[in-house]
Amino acid sequence: MAGAVALPDHAARADPVSAAEAGRRLRTAYPAQIAAVDGGHIVWRDGTRMAIDDGKGEKSFNALLEDPDLADIFAIPYPRGEPAPPTVNADPGRARPDQFFDRMYGNCRKGGVEKNLVEVAWLPTRGVTKIKVTRINGVAEKLSAVSAELDALPSSFDAYLQPIAGTYSCRVIAGTGRLSTHGHGIAIDLALRHADYWRWSKPDSAGRYLWRNEIPLEIVRIFEKHGFIWGGRWYHYDTMHFEYRPELLID
Ligand SMILES: [Zn+2]
Repeated sequence: MAGAVALPDHAARADPVSAAEAGRRLRTAYPAQIAAVDGGHIVWRDGTRMAIDDGKGEKSFNALLEDPDLADIFAIPYPRGEPAPPTVNADPGRARPDQFFDRMYGNCRKGGVEKNLVEVAWLPTRGVTKIKVTRINGVAEKLSAVSAELDALPSSFDAYLQPIAGTYSCRVIAGTGRLSTHGHGIAIDLALRHADYWRWSKPDSAGRYLWRNEIPLEIVRIFEKHGFIWGGRWYHYDTMHFEYRPELLID
């Protein structure tokens, strides 16, 4: 993911939450999927067990993205409040264990996702856009609730809400071999014309990316209230991007 640019590795760290706490947050976030936490494992509703900690200890930043375990989801806390420049490599939510999310939402390369996609009328008072997201975990209903609240914002927000830049897409994350959460049907990109993305910027002489954002906090708060995290809270910022990750929003 570093591409041609050597990124500093300051944010690499050991898991700051215990396996038990990681399990508690996952079970709280996904009650329809996870029945219990037991002996360092989550127990899925069908009885399948999945280890929370892979025993590999402290990981580099790249390993956190390329080979995360369930506890690594929580290695970097997700901040709240006014948007602010993150510290180097603070990307809460970008550690996504494939085995966990593929099991919940399917693998789009194997046809496992599309059968669960449903249409949501996006901002119905502002137009007739239909978008597709997964029905699993109630994501479609939650995005409908987001849509209703966004739709109630004054017209001064229009430029940040429309046109949307995309929802479901079975593709890899630019510059990586990892599937995007757009391939799980849990992500939406807004406001292409007001978006900022770290890959569109050039690092400074120290290799650091300057954080930029135009997305208003009112929009971010509505998504977060319904379980969606925002890519504007990442050092590797992607300010148009929201994805359903309620486990990161549990206190
Ligand atoms: Zn996105």
